[in-house]
Amino acid sequence: MASVLIALGGNVGDVRATFAKAISHICGMAQAAVIARSSDYRTPPWGDEDQAAFINACVEIETDLDPHALLFVMQKVEQKFGRTRDKDRQWGPRTLDLDMIAYDDVSFRKPDLTLPHPRLFERAFVLVPLAEIAPDRVIAGIRVRDGLASVSTQGIERLADTG
Ligand code: AMP
Repeated sequence: MASVLIALGGNVGDVRATFAKAISHICGMAQAAVIARSSDYRTPPWGDEDQAAFINACVEIETDLDPHALLFVMQKVEQKFGRTRDKDRQWGPRTLDLDMIAYDDVSFRKPDLTLPHPRLFERAFVLVPLAEIAPDRVIAGIRVRDGLASVSTQGIERLADTG
């Protein structure tokens, strides 16, 4: 079984409900189990700032799928939840964005998949939820808690559990 960290984000619709459904679909399709799930966080819009705040979270799952098969599942789940994409706004609004942050200690760069995720350590909105579930995980030679300590977390707010 591989341990995989997945980051979730979205800022259109009932994002927290979408996350719950997306995680359950990923686990169903990938025959995966959830090992840990972070809280949800409200995070300032990033890149293209003229849009609603995002909700972000991270999960750790265990699966036997290889990285590309898992990416395929994640893309199917993004499509199922009607991810809307404005071609002119690369970092614009979306219902659901799923990124594979790390797959065990696998490291490669291919046209459709780079592991670990190349922009992880630039993104406080991923590092904050990730540090909640995997503070001591070392990714690309950097401990998650150390990566978090070197970015600004201004404006990121933990949301109360929905129960
Ligand atoms: P984005 O629109 O930023 O979510 O990027 C989606 C594209 O990034 C897809 O075409 C994926 O094939 C590619 N990609 C490369 N590496 C990763 C990764 N680690 N996790 C998710 N998507 C990835």
